[in-house]
Amino acid sequence: MSDSAQPRRIVILGTGGTIAGRATRAGDNVGYTAGQVPVSDLVAGLPAWEGQAVDVEQVAQINSKDMTLPVWQALVARLVAHLQRPEVAGIVVTHGTDTLEETAWLLQSVLKPGKPVVLTCAMRPATAVAPDGPQNLSDALAVVQAPGARGVSVVCGGQVHLARDVAKVHPYRLQPFSSGEAGPLGVVEEGLLRRFRDWPPAVPAPVDAVAAARFVALGSLARVVWVTSHADADGALIDALRLQAQHAPELACRGIVVSGTGNGSLHQRLQAALQRARDEGMAVVLATRCPEGPVVPWSGQPFADLDGLSPAKARLELAWRLAEA
Ligand code: ASP
Repeated sequence: MSDSAQPRRIVILGTGGTIAGRATRAGDNVGYTAGQVPVSDLVAGLPAWEGQAVDVEQVAQINSKDMTLPVWQALVARLVAHLQRPEVAGIVVTHGTDTLEETAWLLQSVLKPGKPVVLTCAMRPATAVAPDGPQNLSDALAVVQAPGARGVSVVCGGQVHLARDVAKVHPYRLQPFSSGEAGPLGVVEEGLLRRFRDWPPAVPAPVDAVAAARFVALGSLARVVWVTSHADADGALIDALRLQAQHAPELACRGIVVSGTGNGSLHQRLQAALQRARDEGMAVVLATRCPEGPVVPWSGQPFADLDGLSPAKARLELAWRLAEA
């Protein structure tokens, strides 16, 4: 393929978030309404994007704390359609920061994209005196065009994180994300990506369209509840879920993700209730409430973990797997 035949069109899909937020007072970086400014306005006039062949689409306009299955399904459907276009090199998605790590994991898990899908966001609304969205959007263009870029990544505050590792760890600062002990994939400096480690393994297809079609056809995700062990914990909430499953099967919780203390240890009262729930058919998955590191398997571990995923990602992964089962 000659250079001129290389795919070079970039698609931007907008879903809302603070990056599209509007405040009534320019100095207000916290009392704003997310998901107001059209994504086309966010890109217009950004020097990095000038002259770039780009298609812009508004898929949703929400505060990502309110993410729902239909919004994810609409996003997955548009991603599949665009990733399959030969002329499209990659896709940038604007998104709120609050549930960004869940969307990033969902897209990686379901789509396994061979092309780059770069999620970006902001911590200050578009109306801020010094908004961070324009720089993040410019950096996202550098990452989506980087040689060899593939899979789902997150660009914010000059750093690039992979979907598996990324977590929001701060409610306010301009770099709210961390990849924990894995560290970021790299940094963006003056429009260039400097990588510290490799992209996820290459996959032959631009997208797993079969898995995506199954996801888009779902009527619902399975109900999966996330609970945490702590000092003086008990099993009352779990026993209430068991009762609900018996009396209102249509609302039945099908899975529970439990964040253990330390290496997945659980208060004995909570553990006993979880065992009762599992005996009655609920799937129970163990994670850790430690912000870094997976549960290290030990003999006598009461419940298995889910590929070392964080509790938020394990909850979503389990909800998707159970919905399919
Ligand atoms: N609540 C906003 C959202 O997740 C926060 C943000 O975008 O930073 O949409």
